[in-house]
Amino acid sequence: AWTIIGCSFGVMALSHAIELGYSESTFPGFELVALIHPIGIALIGLAAWRPSTLATQLRIEGWGLLVGPTLFGWLTVGLVAYGNFVELGALGLFLATVTLILVMVRTGLTFRENIAIAEELRSEVAQSARDPLTGLYNHRLFQELLNDAVDEAIEGGHDLSLVVFDIDDFREINDRYGHEAGDTVLRSIASQIADRLRNEDRVARIGGEEFACVLPRTNGTAAWLVAERARTEIEATDYPGIGTVTVSAGVCDLSHAAGANDLLRLTDGALYWAKTHGRNSVARYQPDLMDVLSAEDRAAQAERARTLSAVSALARAVDAHADAARAAAVR
Ligand code: GH3
Ligand code: MG
Ligand code: MG
Repeated sequence: AWTIIGCSFGVMALSHAIELGYSESTFPGFELVALIHPIGIALIGLAAWRPSTLATQLRIEGWGLLVGPTLFGWLTVGLVAYGNFVELGALGLFLATVTLILVMVRTGLTFRENIAIAEELRSEVAQSARDPLTGLYNHRLFQELLNDAVDEAIEGGHDLSLVVFDIDDFREINDRYGHEAGDTVLRSIASQIADRLRNEDRVARIGGEEFACVLPRTNGTAAWLVAERARTEIEATDYPGIGTVTVSAGVCDLSHAAGANDLLRLTDGALYWAKTHGRNSVARYQPDLMDVLSAEDRAAQAERARTLSAVSALARAVDAHADAARAAAVR
């Protein structure tokens, strides 16, 4: 298109040069020369008519795309006005008018095509944020969502909790019933967790069989309750061909954490605690109190002495887990 634009300006410059060099009376072929000018305008129109390449459309999306063709349009208008001085003649005027109309139509069409492309791109971007198996957000987007939610909670002074679920002994389910059966369980549990959440909550699949829920304006107690309800529902579900599957979860609220990474680390620590204390339970991280509320443990949780001993054990568990994670990251 730029080559055509270059040519068209060249042609118009040539016609001007000839017009300036000869006067009407001394040059017999003037009528022919006068036609050169409209040809230049027509070439500009042609350049505008050609559909722009995808690369261009990507770069100048939306209203920005109107600028180029509109400039062509006004250039044409200018040339038509200028044509009154050099007397383009009926044919020249006709060509210029048709070109102008075509440029306007093309502008509208390109703009419409562009909206469609932009919509397609937007849905592609949205798809790339999803895990294909469960339809939940993927790990990459989870990090973004968590960072944003933490920033918002800190700015607004709101509560925020994080819950991480991990299916218990999932390797065994795969080994015994096959990978496909495992996938089916993954999908069911993903939707069982997602169905518990409110509109403003976000749930992501952050590992093979790990799900993280970001719960804005939710304190640790409320988050624990949400997780515990999901856990009991999953425990009570009969998965066709497999039977019972259980999950463990860790819960932590932002009041204990310095930031998003810290919140994830502490939640992971609580999950680790649940895993190392019998699984099928939801553990809540608290610096001075750690509850392991599995079905069997519920009666014992009131025991102050047990809780106190759990606190120091949790601190060790979190540290050991963090050390292991750090060592794994270094490797
Ligand atoms: P734990 O109770 O300690 O969590 O035991 P686990 O066996 O669940 O241990 P872990 O969480 O390490 O297991 C992860 C397993 O999940 C490994 C892999 O076989 C399985 N897995 C990971 N991603 C997928 C998947 O997309 N589909 C299926 N079917 N299985 C997966
Ligand atoms: Mg697991
Ligand atoms: Mg896991």
